Amino acid sequence: MNRPFAIGDKVLLLDSKLRRYLITLAEGAEFHTHAGLVPHADFVGRPEGVVLTSTKGAAYTALRPTLEDFVLEMPRGAQVIYPKDLAPICMIADIGPGVRVLESGVGSGALSMTMLRYGAEIVGYEIREDFLNRAYNNVRSFLGDDVLGRYQLQLRDCYEGIAERDFDRVVLDLPEPWQVIPHAAEALRPGGILVAYTPSIMQAAQTREAMANKAWSFTRTLEVLHRGWHIEGRAVRPDHRMVAHTGFLTTGRFLG
Ligand code: SAH
Repeated sequence: MNRPFAIGDKVLLLDSKLRRYLITLAEGAEFHTHAGLVPHADFVGRPEGVVLTSTKGAAYTALRPTLEDFVLEMPRGAQVIYPKDLAPICMIADIGPGVRVLESGVGSGALSMTMLRYGAEIVGYEIREDFLNRAYNNVRSFLGDDVLGRYQLQLRDCYEGIAERDFDRVVLDLPEPWQVIPHAAEALRPGGILVAYTPSIMQAAQTREAMANKAWSFTRTLEVLHRGWHIEGRAVRPDHRMVAHTGFLTTGRFLG
């Protein structure tokens, strides 16, 4: 990870106003802005933190993008789950190396990337081929080919059933997760965990209703609030604005 930049690497550039630009270093390519250009070759062999100057004298600091940076900047088809919810989902679902996960839908792959980073082995069901390809490309682009052996995507409607068995986890981000609860009860092993992300509390309530039977326990629904703080000298207070809502997390443990 701590090695100089090379062709193929992703670089996050910050200008003097902390505006962000995400580029992938390519042979013969140039980074262009209104403030002139920087040849990609200038980054090669340089360490993270290097400051390069464009032909018109603008300074750009080069860093490797974090997963959070990439999720916010990557190409999107479907709406992604935001970082504030991605990490809690992994904690609640207890994602770790070798954990077998059924994920649906896959969307732009933000949640896939996060779970793969935690070591999950994912089977992903997605109904839209364009999204499926987008997710695959995003995952490959950020995590590299090494993870693809743990990432198996299928063009499939999750409401119609889950073909595989003995999953440790089922993680859902689709409009009607309650339709998947009976299928999850067949596909999860006893002790497995289900997590469903839903923008609306009505969806959460309907999911909970579907889980209100002896097969499920420890069911709960929560939301994650993330409030930034403004800290500048003696002016120390919460930010005036915040993202007040993204989605609800509903979870339960399958008893068999
Ligand atoms: N969690 C993803 C975003 C998922 S958006 C991310 O972080 O990037 C919801 C996705 O569910 C969409 O791509 C949609 O096509 C897919 N979807 C909707 N209904 C589905 C179904 N019945 N089976 C499989 N995928 C479905």
